[in-house]
Amino acid sequence: MKYIVKLIHIHQVTHNVKCFRMEKPEGYRYQPGHATDVSINKPGMEREIRPFTFTCLTREPYLEFTIKRYPDHHGVTDKLHQLTIGDELIIGDSWGAIEYKEPGYFIAGGAGITPFIAILRTLFDEKKTSGNKLFFSNRTAEDIIYKEELLKILGENVVFVLTREKIARYIHGRIDEKFIKEQMPDFSKHFYVCGPDPMVAELVAGIQNAGASPDALVFEK
Ligand SMILES: Cc1cc2nc3c(=O)[nH]c(=O)nc-3n(C[C@H](O)[C@H](O)[C@H](O)COP(=O)(O)OP(=O)(O)OC[C@H]3O[C@@H](n4cnc5c(N)ncnc54)[C@H](O)[C@@H]3O)c2cc1C
Repeated sequence: MKYIVKLIHIHQVTHNVKCFRMEKPEGYRYQPGHATDVSINKPGMEREIRPFTFTCLTREPYLEFTIKRYPDHHGVTDKLHQLTIGDELIIGDSWGAIEYKEPGYFIAGGAGITPFIAILRTLFDEKKTSGNKLFFSNRTAEDIIYKEELLKILGENVVFVLTREKIARYIHGRIDEKFIKEQMPDFSKHFYVCGPDPMVAELVAGIQNAGASPDALVFEK
């Protein structure tokens, strides 16, 4: 099914990330963590389809995406960031492999935080964040999406990791197998992973090598 939805609200989240809210078609359903195929309803752009993840609570009267712009791709995210209120998107039905199962470790890289935003907002809304911990990797502190909100939701159970900047109170370095063994010792928990493809591949292998059961791993395949 295809739906044409009008943008009703846009705001800047970080220097290269915007939040887009749009009309919600009657009866539209999705699970926190799920995505859909998106294109811009303008001549020549309708078939340029990219996936984006819903970030708002499912009970909201609107739909929401949180989208990072890649100016050097000259692609769809660049065009999306030029849209204004009243412009339209074409979206499909929702789909996805990332869903919350049980408490665990969430590991995100950059815009890979988006499915976890939907899940963590939902857990917070339902007062069920206990037992969950987020490790969120970015290049620099100014790249961290929804930093204040994540601190509000998870308190001391959010760890920000920076790969290209050394700042007090942030961990500097990469999340690798050694990091997993040191920071995520409880292998009875679930592991939720989302980020750039090479990061996900490396972490999924690392988590399994470190001793987690494949059933405990949740990621977009
Ligand atoms: C399931 C899923 C959910 C997603 N959810 C979100 C989300 O909620 N928020 C979000 O921000 N992102 C999300 N993404 C990622 C998002 O889909 C991509 O960022 C988006 O497709 C990039 O589109 P683009 O047209 O700007 O660039 P691309 O489609 O990546 O590239 C356009 C063109 O740029 C060129 N190009 C590609 N890579 C490079 C490069 N590194 N340098 C220079 N040129 C390059 C290529 O010629 C390519 O044809 C999700 C991805 C998946 C798979």
